[in-house]
Amino acid sequence: MVYSFRGGIHPGPHSDPGYKSATNTKAIEILPTPDVVILPVSMHIGAPAKPIVKTGDIVDLGQPIAEAGGFVSAPVHATVSGKVIAVEPRLHPNGSKIMSIVIENDKEDRLHESVHPYDFAGMTNEERIETIRSAGMVGHGGATFPTHVKIQSGIGKCDTIIVNAAECEPYITSDHRLLLERPEEVIGGLKMLADIMEVPNAIIAIEENKSDTFAKINELIADDSRLKLYPLKCKYPQGAEKQLINACTGREVPSGKLPADAGCAVFNVDTTGAIYRRFTTGMPVVRRIVTVSGSAIVEPKNLEVRIGTQVERLIDACGGFKEAPNKLIMGGPMMGVSQFSLEIPVFKGTNAFLAFCGDEDKREENPSCIRCGKCINACPMHLMPMMMNAYGNAGDYNTCVSLGAMDCIECGSCSYVCPARIQLVQRFRLTKAQVMAERAAAKAKADAEAAKAEAEKNSEESK
Ligand code: SF4
Ligand code: SF4
Repeated sequence: MVYSFRGGIHPGPHSDPGYKSATNTKAIEILPTPDVVILPVSMHIGAPAKPIVKTGDIVDLGQPIAEAGGFVSAPVHATVSGKVIAVEPRLHPNGSKIMSIVIENDKEDRLHESVHPYDFAGMTNEERIETIRSAGMVGHGGATFPTHVKIQSGIGKCDTIIVNAAECEPYITSDHRLLLERPEEVIGGLKMLADIMEVPNAIIAIEENKSDTFAKINELIADDSRLKLYPLKCKYPQGAEKQLINACTGREVPSGKLPADAGCAVFNVDTTGAIYRRFTTGMPVVRRIVTVSGSAIVEPKNLEVRIGTQVERLIDACGGFKEAPNKLIMGGPMMGVSQFSLEIPVFKGTNAFLAFCGDEDKREENPSCIRCGKCINACPMHLMPMMMNAYGNAGDYNTCVSLGAMDCIECGSCSYVCPARIQLVQRFRLTKAQVMAERAAAKAKADAEAAKAEAEKNSEESK
């Protein structure tokens, strides 16, 4: 049986579905460590980490250099050994300058004393979760939500964990290569997660275009009845959490709710492998696999790099640009973030860096809807993008909300199929940001009025 969901799209030509042929047969290449790494204190969703080193400090590989700034946060570790040469704001892939710790690499890769294997079987669940938290583990698929929070909030609520190996975004093949070359890490991590969360169902869900991984995965899960391999139909956005859960379990995550509300917890392939490495070697999150691809790249590759490596090093390792790129994207072409500089560092959520040249970025000057309905068929959330776009353009955000705009997962499927080339997903991002800002302002006003009323009441009572 092949699992899937309703809606979605099939990017790429028949000869190259998902545009993955440039790198899906390229083995992971380990990039030599750079001279300098730049480590932002915000590489996750939640409170920024707080630096605990200063300029001039000597640090070891794997040493904590910034501690978590709250429960929903993650610490940061030195990804090379060397000397801290700056603690200052540096350009972040989100486009702003973020406090970062800059380390000059001494090329010794001297291991920090805290990096040692753990006795997973002999640990309590609290100790296991703390070991994951202290490793700075976050969702490596791009979401970067702290993994320990997902585990803790899912225990007792979830009966199913799913390792998301769909990798449905065009061009990206880093997870595919990890599954092919290091499947023991991924399945080892999945078994650990199943133990920690005490679930009867642990699914690894892989799109059919990665069927070359199935035999080995089936061999590795054969001794554990909790583990199952679910082949997924090749379709975008098959790897979106709600669509993945629906495909694997038939359950719907209610509007405005989380996967745990449908009894599921979803983990990225690389995160799962990182959990296994944390317990078996002690290594926190210091590296990741990045697909470098796109029409402007001379030799597309899958590179394993230290977190904090500047993107220009990755481009150099791929032979540079064929011609000046007109579009740079960190992540995939559907949900990635456009970039304007190669000085940005690879961070924990970086699974790809793409560069395009030529006329691939097609735009229309004043596009207008021809009411073809293609966007409605493509929407995996069963929304009406054409209507949401019209009301959003008119500034009628209340109607947008009633049409389900806040449920839009910003997958870009509607924009991809729109023959009029209307920038639908950009419209919905603006609409959602506007609605969130209005809600925050209304809450702040209500809180201020409540505080004022409370103060007046206390004043009356004290008279
Ligand atoms: S971007 Fe939003 S509206 Fe468009 S297809 Fe995706 S979920 Fe639907
Ligand atoms: S796909 Fe584009 S042109 Fe067609 S109905 Fe949707 S918004 Fe209009």
